[in-house]
Amino acid sequence: MDISTGEIAVAAVSHLGTDLARLSPSEILVSDRAYEGWIANADDTLPMLESAARVTPLGTASFDSTSAEKRLRDLYKVRSLDGFGAFTRAQLSALGALVDYIAITQVGAAPHLSPPRVEASGDAMRIDAATRRNLELVTGPEGTRKGSLLATTDRTVTGGGARLLAARLAAPLTDPARIHARLDALALFRDDSALTEDIRAMLKAAPDIARALSRLSLSRGGPRDLAALRDGLDAATAIATRLEALMDPPEQVARAETMLTGHDALTETLRAALTAEPPLLARDGNFIAEGHDTALDAARSLRDDSRLVIRDLESRLKSETGITPLKVKFNNVLGYFIETPTAPGEALAKDPAFIHRQTMASAMRFTTPELADLDTRIAQAASEATTRELALFETLRETALASADAIARTAQALAMLDATAALGDLAAAQGWTRPKIDASDAFHIEAGRHPVVEAALTAANETFVANDCNLGEDRLWMLTGPNMAGKSTFLRQNALIAILAQCGSFVPATSAHIGALDALYSRVGASDDLARGHSTFMVEMVETATILNQSTARSLVILDEIGRGTATFDGLSIAWAVLEHLHDVNGCRGLFATHYHELTELAARLSHARNAAMKVAEWEGDIVFLHEVEPGAATRSYGVQVAKKAGLPPAVIARARDVLGRLEKGDAKGGEARIRAIVDDLPLFAAIAQEPPDAPTDAVRETLGSLDPDALSPREAHEALYRLKGLLDR
Ligand code: ADP
Repeated sequence: MDISTGEIAVAAVSHLGTDLARLSPSEILVSDRAYEGWIANADDTLPMLESAARVTPLGTASFDSTSAEKRLRDLYKVRSLDGFGAFTRAQLSALGALVDYIAITQVGAAPHLSPPRVEASGDAMRIDAATRRNLELVTGPEGTRKGSLLATTDRTVTGGGARLLAARLAAPLTDPARIHARLDALALFRDDSALTEDIRAMLKAAPDIARALSRLSLSRGGPRDLAALRDGLDAATAIATRLEALMDPPEQVARAETMLTGHDALTETLRAALTAEPPLLARDGNFIAEGHDTALDAARSLRDDSRLVIRDLESRLKSETGITPLKVKFNNVLGYFIETPTAPGEALAKDPAFIHRQTMASAMRFTTPELADLDTRIAQAASEATTRELALFETLRETALASADAIARTAQALAMLDATAALGDLAAAQGWTRPKIDASDAFHIEAGRHPVVEAALTAANETFVANDCNLGEDRLWMLTGPNMAGKSTFLRQNALIAILAQCGSFVPATSAHIGALDALYSRVGASDDLARGHSTFMVEMVETATILNQSTARSLVILDEIGRGTATFDGLSIAWAVLEHLHDVNGCRGLFATHYHELTELAARLSHARNAAMKVAEWEGDIVFLHEVEPGAATRSYGVQVAKKAGLPPAVIARARDVLGRLEKGDAKGGEARIRAIVDDLPLFAAIAQEPPDAPTDAVRETLGSLDPDALSPREAHEALYRLKGLLDR
């Protein structure tokens, strides 16, 4: 249940952790019997206890499905729930508990609830919490929105549109027909920039009616929320008119159009009743327009007329007493009173017509029976006006809430139009293409790009190198290449393209054909999770187990450096077995980045696997990353060159080259024996011992290189000689 929008949905789930990760609820209700069971077993692996949500145990009676039915019928004021769909006992029990909890916690101010919806399981692509984090869908590397897929793709102009876009990214669809319905709507906006501009301008100017409605239904709303409904619903009508002009709109747009209208009576009432810009709170008053209510107008004119009468009285008193500085004033303690300077005041005090109220340092205060009477009448009129206005607010609020369902539908239509137009605008601006989604097992991306990395590179005036990916025949790709060559980027861009496509967005590629994924798994080897007390390798293996147990032939699995968290041969063997299993048993599509070169041999033995490598060029001992994916395995890992790029001291680089050379010599001796031989061959401190002669040689070479013998005088040549000798002695 989303209490801010009143949406409520139930579903039977088979992967609770994944669904909780998608929904990221702030609170979870459980029956106290189940809860006690977990506590007793200290079972902290339960997904609900793992999620950041607050877990609230609730009496078992709240979950009783028979009383749930009655509770729901009462709430929706229907005689049977059949009109909403067919609910299982379990679903009724969950709905009943939610409704009961709302009744307990929101006493007297229950939010408006839309009719409950049944979500079919398998409606959404399964993406577990680790994958969401790893792919940075809604939070970036710093834990904020920045750098996330959401931040990069969000061009919405309304709160509702932004919320919907985030929800869609969190739950990509699996049904190609539904995905294409969204894509059809998006294509309309992508192709018609005038329409997109118009609709977005209107949306941007429209107030958030969903929020206003929810505030009003929770009794937190004020006159400004009513005005938001008035203006927002007017905007919705204007948008509907703009859409009406379209010939043959896509189905989703046509449906949105019908959801936008039908509020004329309400907006008419609100327009007549409210001032143009009413205050936030009802108790601030003066928000009902003049002429809307005769009783209010009467009370107000009495209140305002009395103020005129006061001014009359003041000038009359002035002339009667002859005291020109005399004033009639008001404060909260005395109400209205007459104030004069002390000297004339003392004379006035003797006049029986004036009743003395207060003596100040330099003034005296009086009242008269006439003023006291006026004071009462003014106060009464003012309070009458306020009471009347509050009552009118209440009536208007009820009138608005009577159309709550229709208003909520309009808000949904506006959010849908905003999210769709925003993605259309993005697709047009970034040259994204429409993906082809079907039930095949294709995964063919041509010239795909990583939207977030590309945006960062573009901002830095660099270009992103697009890459193809085709998992049709060879379903598993083993990607090798040095660190920093772009392996992770390639892996993730394909996952993100699948997510975008199944959300109903166009994608950063020249073409994309994807057989809809049922689940997506993405892992990086040995990510740190020490905070939760698991060793990194343990976490990696728990996550790998999930993938092996849950991925199907319809899933996409992305593993970046699997098996990295343990000793080489351990890690390699596990990675080997995992890949074989995914290939033979799970049959999923997959991309694996590895720097175990041994794994590339696996590709030859598996019928549906192949090797791919990140292309690099070598230039004068340095390495240049080309960011291109090419067929075949990388022949070398270039670790030493990468280390050099990172600025390791030259002596260390030289030493590493030396060790590598010996390791690579292909000694007949294998494994540990080979290593031991090298250790014996290369005394531990050889690198350090060799360092001094190395560094000066470079300096000497550099200095010599900068000398031009023909240009030197004998004296300068002599000095240069000393300098060179000095370098050697250093
Ligand atoms: P790896 O996983 O191989 O260590 P990354 O994928 O982390 O490498 O990429 C390292 C950096 O290279 C990225 O941060 C990005 O700046 C750049 N890069 C990666 N792929 C591309 C690409 N296709 N085009 C341009 N630059 C890229």
